[in-house]
Amino acid sequence: MGGCPTGTVPGNFQRGGRKRGLQTDLQNEIVREIETLLGCQSIADLDFEAVEMAARRQALRLAARALEQRLNTDTSDHAGPQLPCSCGGSAQYHGRHGKAFESVLGPLHLQRAYYHCEQCESGFCPRDRALGLESFSLTPGVLRMTASAAALLSFEESSGLLHELAGAEVSAKQVERAAEALGAEIAVDEQQQVEMMGEVAPTMYLGMDGTGVPMRTQEVADRAGKQADGSAKTREAKLVTIWTAESRDEEGQPVRDPGSITYSAAIESAATLDTSPGLSDFAARVQREASRRGFTEAQRPAVLGDGSAWIWNSATELFPQATQILDRFHAKEHLSQVGKIIYGDRPEGKLWIQARYDELDEGRLKFLVQALHGHVGQHKEARDCVRYIWNNRHRMRYPKFHKQGFCTSTGVVEAGCKVVIGTRLKRAGMHWTVRGANTIIALRCSKLSGRFEDFWERRSDQWKTAA
Ligand SMILES: [Zn+2]
Repeated sequence: MGGCPTGTVPGNFQRGGRKRGLQTDLQNEIVREIETLLGCQSIADLDFEAVEMAARRQALRLAARALEQRLNTDTSDHAGPQLPCSCGGSAQYHGRHGKAFESVLGPLHLQRAYYHCEQCESGFCPRDRALGLESFSLTPGVLRMTASAAALLSFEESSGLLHELAGAEVSAKQVERAAEALGAEIAVDEQQQVEMMGEVAPTMYLGMDGTGVPMRTQEVADRAGKQADGSAKTREAKLVTIWTAESRDEEGQPVRDPGSITYSAAIESAATLDTSPGLSDFAARVQREASRRGFTEAQRPAVLGDGSAWIWNSATELFPQATQILDRFHAKEHLSQVGKIIYGDRPEGKLWIQARYDELDEGRLKFLVQALHGHVGQHKEARDCVRYIWNNRHRMRYPKFHKQGFCTSTGVVEAGCKVVIGTRLKRAGMHWTVRGANTIIALRCSKLSGRFEDFWERRSDQWKTAA
C-alpha cells in the first residue's frame, strides 16, 4: 500500500494533528446529541433504558460517519493504473467502488479503489485486503463477534443476540456463512499448529469419546445405522480431550485443574485400512492434540475412555506407554442401565446397582461378573456387560490406579461430548452436513480450548502480508 496523505497508515491513525480536531468535533457532537435526547425533562422521569440505547446508537452513528469520512478522503489505495492479479494476469483500475460493511459502529459506506482482471474475470479492492474486509461484508470486529456467538448458539439466535447486544445487523444466513468459513479456516490452522504450548504436568490425562450428530438425509443415505430399518440418522463425532489433575482436595484426592481442558473433535474415521501405513484421520487428530499438550512428555500419561474398540485401538497404537483406564463414570452408567433392565423400578434394583458399584470400586471384578451371570439367561444386556467387563478388566483395576494417584472417574470425557457437541449441534430441529458440522465443531473447540485468539492473530497477520 502507498503512503496516505497525513503520513500515517490506517492502522494507527489516532496520531496526527487532524485527529485532535476530529476528536473535539466528535465529542462536541455526542454531547449535543445527548442533551437533545434528555431534553428538559427531569432526570427522575427518564426512561433510562430508552435513553442509554438511543445515546449509544447516536454516538456510534457519529463515529461511523467520522470514520467513513476519514477513510473515503484517503485515496492512497489507488496504486496506479494496474496491479498484478493473483492469477498471474494484470488487473486494471476501474475507479472507486462503494460498498456497505456492517461494523461495530453500524453500517459503514466505504469507497475503495477497484481493480479488475480480464484474464480471470474477477476483481479486488486492495483496501479491503489491507483492512481485512473481505469476509461477507463484515468488518473484523463484527466477524469476531459473529464467531463468538455462533460458537455458542444457533445461527438464528446468534443473529438476534448480535442485534440486541451490539446493535450489529448480521442475518442468520450471514452468521452461518461467516461461522462456517472461519471454522473451515480454523480446521486447516489446527492441522498446522502442532508445536507444544503450555506446560507438561507430571500426570496427564487423555480421553476419547464419540457421540451421534443428527444429519441431513442425503448425508446418511448409504450408511448403516441404529434405526429399526437399519438406516442411519446420525454420524459419529469423535472427540479427544486432554486435561491435568495436579490439584488435590481435602482428602488428598486428585482434582481436575481449572482451565486445563482442551478439545479437538470432528466427524471422521478412526479406522485404518490394513493396507494403509498411515494413521486414520482421527488418530492423526489425537496425535496432534497430544503434541500440542506435551502428553507423551508427561511422566505418567493415562488414556481414559469407555468400551468402544476404536478408542483402545487408537490408544494402543499411539501411546503404548500410557496407562489405560476405563472411565469409572462410564462403567457405572453401564451397570446402572443393566440394573434398570433387570429390575425395572423395583427398590431391590437400587440395592443391586449399589452392590455392583461397590464391587467395581473395590476391584472385585470376579464377584461383579458372578452377580451378572445370574441374569445372562434372560437378559442380553447382562451378557453384553459380562463381555464388556472381561474385555476391559485390565483397564478396571481401580484400587491399583488409586494407589498410583490416578483419577479414574472424571466425567470430563462424558461432559466433553455434551459441552463440545451436544449443546451446540444436537438441538431440536438441527440437521447438519458433515462439512458444516465439522466447521462449527472446529470453531467451538478452538473457543473452548482458548486457542481462538492465537488463530485470530495469525489470520490478521496473513491479511497484512497478503495486502
Ligand atoms: Zn486475474
